[in-house]
Amino acid sequence: MSAPWKIVITGCGTSHGNPPWGWPQHWSEDPRDHRRRSGALLLGPAGETILIDTGPDLMHQMRDPFKTWDGVSYPADCITRCDGVLITHDHADHSHGLNELRHLNRLMKGREIPVYAHPGHLNEVMRMYPYCFEDPTKAYKMATPALRATELEDSRTVTIGGAPITSFAMSHGPYGRVTGLRCGDLAYCTDCKHIPEASVDYLQGLEVLVLNMLREQEHVSHFNWAEASAVIERLAPKHTVLVHMGHEVRYADWEQRLPAGVTMAVDGYTSTFSIEGPTWP
Ligand SMILES: [Zn+2]
Ligand SMILES: [Zn+2]
Repeated sequence: MSAPWKIVITGCGTSHGNPPWGWPQHWSEDPRDHRRRSGALLLGPAGETILIDTGPDLMHQMRDPFKTWDGVSYPADCITRCDGVLITHDHADHSHGLNELRHLNRLMKGREIPVYAHPGHLNEVMRMYPYCFEDPTKAYKMATPALRATELEDSRTVTIGGAPITSFAMSHGPYGRVTGLRCGDLAYCTDCKHIPEASVDYLQGLEVLVLNMLREQEHVSHFNWAEASAVIERLAPKHTVLVHMGHEVRYADWEQRLPAGVTMAVDGYTSTFSIEGPTWP
């Protein structure tokens, strides 16, 4: 069995980030409720580094992935390598930090970074950020990112940084499709409102399920707690980590009510997983 990989939840907040400013009644002084926008890292034993999503907080996530930095000294845990980027969908809170990848290009001496997404999301990201996908040799002294667009095909396994990644379709409610990801015994499901029956196959036998859970109250495009807990009950992963939470979800209240095997993420939350598991052709 190969050495374990790690997943780091670099941001577990919903699209606004939280807590929100301007509403003192919604503020929280608990640092566990201070959440960056959505994102994660898959880290391999030999330094392999895969990014999931490039939200608007990407620079902070790369500089201080575990949220352990004192804000003054050199951030020794910063990310300096990237073998590939997986984009779950083109919403702003998942893609509008794309430009920040240019510093990773610079740290890798100009090496281009492959960006993987479903064709529809990839087209939208390339429409919004065309300059990031120009011929990398034209990138002016690393002023712009050097990215290579790569389409993900549903139900196929691609290898990134030595890790097998399988993508599948999930529903984001009225926003259409969002891509779910499977890697070994880990699955990453964000911004999901409904898991189609055809995708349930990719979510069997999980050690770790990362799952979006916005709040108690129902929402048009994200799982609330009732929906998330029904998914957890059905899929029965060994461990579930809740992400993409709204400001209404306060850590101190929720940690007491969650069942065994379900954890709320905080920014920097880390869990191990194995890249050995089912793959698809
Ligand atoms: Zn989102
Ligand atoms: Zn979204």
